Amino acid sequence: MSMWHSVEKSFVERLPPDIDGLVAYRLAFNPKQSSKDGRPWGTWGTSKRKGFGGKRAVHCNGGYKCENIKCLFLMLYNNNNRLQFEADEDRTKSVCSCCGVPATRVDCNAKKNCEFDEGEEYVTVYHLGDHNCEAKKTVELNKESLKQKFDSNSKTPPK
Ligand SMILES: [Zn+2]
Ligand SMILES: [Zn+2]
Repeated sequence: MSMWHSVEKSFVERLPPDIDGLVAYRLAFNPKQSSKDGRPWGTWGTSKRKGFGGKRAVHCNGGYKCENIKCLFLMLYNNNNRLQFEADEDRTKSVCSCCGVPATRVDCNAKKNCEFDEGEEYVTVYHLGDHNCEAKKTVELNKESLKQKFDSNSKTPPK
């Protein structure tokens, strides 16, 4: 992995939720926390057996985007909804939680490798590639709070 020689490893307590690009982080190993960030990662590829000191890789699942130009979210935040989706009534596709319009699939080519130290005290997380998905930050929005915000911010209702 020669390209990693030029990448400085930052010591962190937690991974940044919006981890992106060519970065490397080193952190104390904690089974519940140390590989978590806000990206919709798939399932880890390798062994889950105990005492596994080695590498694990995972790919980003990508996400969804609402492209409805009349979406409440877009009107409020001047940005497409990339965070709030739910299954439609038939459970066959994902729809925007704000306007109910079927979502557009967004693919990511980003991947993440975790390399555990001997003894699993520390883990180094290598991240590579760019995300098109939206990282989940701490704030979760929902339809009701959006509507309230919209109502209090605007006197002209959506058409
Ligand atoms: Zn929408
Ligand atoms: Zn992604």
